Amino acid sequence: MGRAEKDARYRQSAKGKAAAKRYQQSEKGKLASAKYAQSEKGRASLAKYQQSEKGKETISIYYQSERGKLAFAKASAKSRQGEKYKVTQAKHKARRKAMPILDYPDFILWMYKVKPRCIKCNCAYGDSFEADHIIPIAEGGTNKWTNLQPLCRECHRLKSNEDISRIARLKREGGILIK
Ligand SMILES: [Zn+2]
Repeated sequence: MGRAEKDARYRQSAKGKAAAKRYQQSEKGKLASAKYAQSEKGRASLAKYQQSEKGKETISIYYQSERGKLAFAKASAKSRQGEKYKVTQAKHKARRKAMPILDYPDFILWMYKVKPRCIKCNCAYGDSFEADHIIPIAEGGTNKWTNLQPLCRECHRLKSNEDISRIARLKREGGILIK
């Protein structure tokens, strides 16, 4: 048996695996893996994994777990304090400001007269209808009538939740939301 083969066998053995685990948990091992993660090679390997089917699945499972949700909330809070976030927010604000909101009153009138029911669940709104952005502003939607639809409060809440999580996912995956 050659040296390389012996090494490979050792790594596969229970003893070898236990030794590897001990090393990974040691200060020296942690330092080495942190160094690797920051290297060109380590970053490239991580990016490749994240783009693979298996990697995507693992990430999606992680973000649905309690731990992942907590980590995401922490990362979001941290990013909200960064310069990049401030720049994005300023752009977003300027975009909203530049958009005409004149369609709103007409739209509300139209909702009352022509569409007395929620587009999604067909309930009668009563006085609790809301104007929903079909394509969210963050995804390039406008305040124009053509991008608005009347929804009841509950349907609007559900759709907004979907929109927010899709946008958060896009941001995580590096999607560009605002041009
Ligand atoms: Zn509804």
